[in-house]
Amino acid sequence: MSKKPPPKQFVKNPIQGTKFTLLVSSAKGGVGKSTVAVNLAFALQSLGLKIGILDADVYGPSLPKLVNINEKPKSEDGKALVPVEKYDAQCMSMGLLVDEQTPMIWRGPMVISAIKTMTQKVLWKDRDIIIIDMPPGTGDTQLTFAQEVKVDGAIIVSTPQDLALLDVKRGIQMFDKTGVRILGLIDNMSFFKGDDGKDYKIFGESGVEKTAKEFKKEFLGHLPIHQDLRSSADTGKPLTYSDPDHEVSKLFLNIAKKIKISLN
Ligand code: ADP
Repeated sequence: MSKKPPPKQFVKNPIQGTKFTLLVSSAKGGVGKSTVAVNLAFALQSLGLKIGILDADVYGPSLPKLVNINEKPKSEDGKALVPVEKYDAQCMSMGLLVDEQTPMIWRGPMVISAIKTMTQKVLWKDRDIIIIDMPPGTGDTQLTFAQEVKVDGAIIVSTPQDLALLDVKRGIQMFDKTGVRILGLIDNMSFFKGDDGKDYKIFGESGVEKTAKEFKKEFLGHLPIHQDLRSSADTGKPLTYSDPDHEVSKLFLNIAKKIKISLN
């Protein structure tokens, strides 16, 4: 009888130049993950942390637009890349290396190689935390991070409707199975406050909070649908950086405080 080969042992390499590495993930696309990742990063910055933001969404990078970067990262030795600095954050994204409208028509192995380059060949310097904006789903990028990169925790962002929550449950189980600690869940687009002062729960009520309870994960907070969050994203000035006293920035700050505590 032929013997089954032993499972491959992966080495988890830390990202150099940072104390902590945090994944911001969503199982489904379009739930506001990148917007939350970037605003959370600047909320952590306002708590005194030196931040780096790595956009790991190779197929649909959004960091260059979210922080309005137009320059390409430089390389002094032709091998390692120097992250681009914006708003006192060090930033890296595949979107900085290719033209804005160039589609990335890549198979899995090329994505894995790009992720390895962005985690091992970027000269992050003197950072407290690197926030990684993950692509949606449970594919090659997630697996590469879970198996080959030393991460300190993951945050899952979702909207509260059933269709998104189904994917969230898959996302939670993926991180649990691969041994990545989930620091908590965030409910984005939780409600919309109308001119009449009422909260409209457009995508249903408390779905993310209930899912957190069901899987015994921490619930980190609700974020409303707010036009200022959308417009600040479109103009490349994250709300938590440009208007830290905004009511929505304060909600991000509360979430950032919980994350800071759970990392220490
Ligand atoms: P994802 O990364 O999950 O694909 P994005 O962060 O790109 O989602 O967000 C999708 C769109 O929704 C963007 O136009 C963004 O500005 C907007 N958006 C995200 N969260 C909110 C929110 N809480 N309120 C208003 N607009 C939001």
